[in-house]
Amino acid sequence: MLVNVGNRTMTAKVLLTEQQISERTTELAAQINNDHPKGETLVVLIVLHGAILFAADLVRKLNMPTQIETTRLKSYAGTVSSGTVSLAIPVPDSVAGKNVLIIEDIIDSGRSLNFLVPKVKDAGAKLVRVATLLDKPEAHETEITADYVGFYIGKNFVIGYGLDLDGAYRNLPYIAELV
Ligand code: 5GP
Ligand code: MG
Repeated sequence: MLVNVGNRTMTAKVLLTEQQISERTTELAAQINNDHPKGETLVVLIVLHGAILFAADLVRKLNMPTQIETTRLKSYAGTVSSGTVSLAIPVPDSVAGKNVLIIEDIIDSGRSLNFLVPKVKDAGAKLVRVATLLDKPEAHETEITADYVGFYIGKNFVIGYGLDLDGAYRNLPYIAELV
């Protein structure tokens, strides 16, 4: 597939198929179900926009009562890696006293989650865990470990299944990497 990146064209090749994502999501949901009490409400905090598709598929497989909430981060400055992070949509008060599962699309430098997790704890969450569809361990610039990781991938930029390139390609049912 050819994709437009600014004024040039790049090739994107499939990295993870729809079926691989679906099977892995089922495995992650089983782990999450196993780790959380069935009778306690789990607040699912979806990090917009990238995690929307992953979260939608994952929550359908959870077997405890859930409450779905959203938050959104924005990074300032030129590049992602030099950017400071802030909240564009605040962490909801409803996380107070609850078990919270943050759902992210991807961990790159690790800055976003290292900013968000303390905010959720500050808001009074009883327990905070993180599920991310993708993790780029070689790109971490700060110590960060998610509790549930779908796939470890290399450093290439990826699109699809919620992940965008300048707002486009989020609706691809698979993950492709720019090569
Ligand atoms: P971090 O704060 O860990 O550096 O960045 C996390 C955010 O950067 C992700 O939530 C995502 O929005 C964006 N990001 C990082 N790597 C990629 C990538 O390969 N593709 C896309 N589409 N977004 C990415
Ligand atoms: Mg994101």
